[in-house]
Amino acid sequence: MRDENCIFCKIANGEIPSKAIYEDEDFKVILDLGPATKGHALILPKAHAANLFELPEETAAKAMVLAKKLGKQMTENLKADGLNLVQNNGEAAGQTVHHFHLHLIPRYENDGQHILWNPGEVSQEELEEIKNTIIG
Ligand code: 5GP
Ligand code: ZN
Repeated sequence: MRDENCIFCKIANGEIPSKAIYEDEDFKVILDLGPATKGHALILPKAHAANLFELPEETAAKAMVLAKKLGKQMTENLKADGLNLVQNNGEAAGQTVHHFHLHLIPRYENDGQHILWNPGEVSQEELEEIKNTIIG
């Protein structure tokens, strides 16, 4: 349930202080210490799971319901113009803390952030091959 060396286990279970905006028996939701924007928050399950693939389905479902509820509350109360949900799995995807977390990033007009990618190009043949690889 808990990983002794995991900082988010310690934060989610109250051993390390944090600014929590929500808590229940399964989750703690904290403000990020290196925020992309004002109000950037992290949904942390209290039970350790390294990433989305290790997360129990029930917890994954609850995390999305929580993101909807808190995302709306944050967007309204902070007068944000939009909201990004970001969730990184693996170092190649930018994950730096290996305890599942769902980023809630309020967005403001001209906030200077770029949570975007450069669109590539792909042929119909390549799409067909990729589709078949994924579905196996
Ligand atoms: P990742 O890159 O793994 O998706 O995101 C990790 C996030 O955790 C980063 O946005 C980083 O600022 C945040 N973070 C790392 N350590 C701490 C901490 O000790 N407290 C808080 N509140 N946020 C942290
Ligand atoms: Zn952990």
